[in-house]
Amino acid sequence: MSSQSHFSRRSFLKTSGLALSALAVGARVGVPRKSAAFSDSMSPRAEKIEASEALEMLIEGNQRYVEFHLEHPHQTEARLLEVSKGQSPFAIIVGCADSRVPPEVVFDQGLGDLFVVRIAGNIIDDAILGSVEYAAEHLRAPLVMVLGHENCGAVKATVEILETGAAAPGHIGSLVKAITPAVQAAKSAKGDVVNNAVTANVLWGMMQLKSASPILTELIHKHELMVVGGRYDLDTGEVAVMR
Ligand SMILES: [Zn+2]
Repeated sequence: MSSQSHFSRRSFLKTSGLALSALAVGARVGVPRKSAAFSDSMSPRAEKIEASEALEMLIEGNQRYVEFHLEHPHQTEARLLEVSKGQSPFAIIVGCADSRVPPEVVFDQGLGDLFVVRIAGNIIDDAILGSVEYAAEHLRAPLVMVLGHENCGAVKATVEILETGAAAPGHIGSLVKAITPAVQAAKSAKGDVVNNAVTANVLWGMMQLKSASPILTELIHKHELMVVGGRYDLDTGEVAVMR
């Protein structure tokens, strides 16, 4: 991680208590983009989708999933052929690798709809930032969601390791290191520490997306990218949006 992200970590720890109690801050609504400079690699979608519309599409898809009224859109042979010419996903999801939280399923989307980056604990590192930069700048996806979930094993492991002082086995230490600021921020909050740390970890991911990449920061300032968070409930399947 760059020195810039260390700065972000300090400011996150300072502000996270406030953020945990007031989640509805900092959302930006996107505006239509200029004509696509990278049309060679984009699918021939007729109209540019705005961030607010993209978020609505995610929320509606999740509602269909929760109610078991799935439409399974864009999973036809015609769609396969369409997206073979290029992609223009309407949202980027940085989600946990947990097998129970596959974004295309929980948002009822199909081929070419979502640019999904999955990693245990939905952490942000340089490779994740690069992936998001590609989708936001080159593919012009207007929305990025950091998607955490209830009872996340990576968050739970971080809480346990910080509480017991035990060493993390293998390469799990890199996940623990990345999630530690969120657990530290959640420690002083009332209630279950893992539950609070899951929320804090989504906020931490959002903050890193906003501040650790000059490319993303510029897109956000130009209102061409909106960063939101999501928290998936394992029991109901519902995604609570954080912005
Ligand atoms: Zn997880």
